[in-house]
Amino acid sequence: MTSLNFLSQDTIVALATAQGPGAIAVIRLSGPEAISITNKVFRGKNLEQQASHTLHFGTIRDCERLIDEVLVSLFVAPHSYTKENVVEISCHGSEYIVAEIIKILLREGARLAEAGEFTKRAFLNGQMDLAQAEAVADLISSNSRISHEVAMKQMRGGFSAEIKNLRAQLVHFASMIELELDFAEEDVEFADRTALRNLIHEIQKLLRHLLQSFELGNVLKNGVPTVIVGKPNAGKSTLLNVLLNEEKAIVSDIPGTTRDFIEDEVSIEGIRFRFIDTAGLRETEDKVEALGVERTRQKVEEAALVLYLFDVNTTSPEELKAEVEDLKTAGKPVLLVANKLDAAADKLIDFGSFENLIGISASRHQNIPELKKAILSQVKTAGLQDRSQTIVTNLRHVASLEKTYAALDDVLNGIALGISSELVASDIRRSLHALGEITGEITTDDLLENIFSKFCIGK
Ligand code: GDP
Repeated sequence: MTSLNFLSQDTIVALATAQGPGAIAVIRLSGPEAISITNKVFRGKNLEQQASHTLHFGTIRDCERLIDEVLVSLFVAPHSYTKENVVEISCHGSEYIVAEIIKILLREGARLAEAGEFTKRAFLNGQMDLAQAEAVADLISSNSRISHEVAMKQMRGGFSAEIKNLRAQLVHFASMIELELDFAEEDVEFADRTALRNLIHEIQKLLRHLLQSFELGNVLKNGVPTVIVGKPNAGKSTLLNVLLNEEKAIVSDIPGTTRDFIEDEVSIEGIRFRFIDTAGLRETEDKVEALGVERTRQKVEEAALVLYLFDVNTTSPEELKAEVEDLKTAGKPVLLVANKLDAAADKLIDFGSFENLIGISASRHQNIPELKKAILSQVKTAGLQDRSQTIVTNLRHVASLEKTYAALDDVLNGIALGISSELVASDIRRSLHALGEITGEITTDDLLENIFSKFCIGK
């Protein structure tokens, strides 16, 4: 339910900037009383007589006690993020000042905002649809060029426009078929079944593209889980350190010391790779290490990309083959990395028959740019070339797209079987319902609660 006149009675307040001391903090209010409540504690101009989108210097006082000098920005309804009256108070970024100002505002009639409540109001007041609201959260947490680009496009309505277009086409057919129901006795067909079938095939093709884009979308949003496997002393920690450019893993000469999993992220050309260092797969009697082997297998299972690192001086091609088979990578991309080439440059020739193999020296930083390039090429980046393609990044959207697809299958089957218009119409309505969940034409309180509770307070 999107309504343009969702009118909240409450005026909410929250810190909009990050917790903790900073140069400036911004406290935000939204609701019918946002301006009048602020006006009660603000000394300066009468805020209730000022125009929207103006900025006012003054002080905040608790009775006569001066709390801070502040700048107040005014946004008069409906010209604000939430479409309600909004005030933003920029104060000095002391946690004490922030707490004091919020306390006074609460006393004057505001209440603390819940998680995501500002954005929820923006949605309920028709400022943005649900997919756009979700993109606000993605935008705030975006941490690479590409995840930023995808979130920005979704927030500005690119994805929503595509979904709405699909819906509009289906609505047209649904109404034609429903019209047939009114003339049931006359046995007429207003909706051309061939055209409908073609349309559904078109829409399903688009849905397949969108669903396929999720694999990439997920990678962009969450990073590529990449596991580094290799025997103790192969140089895994050293390589990880080189990739991370800092000493996060413990490098040691004692085999089997990397028992813990160290996870960190490296961005290669805007894509994040989450590296997981493992204990390796050495068959062992040592109980602690045996546990490590089991966990290594588990990490390989969870990974999207496996780097198998080996010491080129102590590993024979036969051994490498056996080790990699033992990994049971189940079709996952595996990049074989021959390390310690500095000590034996000519050894690489022995491994000429292996595909996806690259020689490096981790400790001497040799061939690292080539390794990064090879890592990048293992990820399906085709979709990234075409900037106009919509990329789905949200699991909730995937579920709705799948439901739409299945309902459209039912429509096609229904037409093929020549079932009644009524049943065809009902299947189309089901597909419309599923599509509508994405942009929020169809919502439930639970769904909204689920989405907005994941936001921070103040968003
Ligand atoms: P891990 O057990 O696989 O994590 O291996 P480490 O990263 O702890 O490295 C084991 C030993 O190999 C350390 O003494 C490293 O300095 C050494 N090492 C790592 N990379 C190279 C390399 O490229 N060349 C040489 N010569 N030694 C290396």
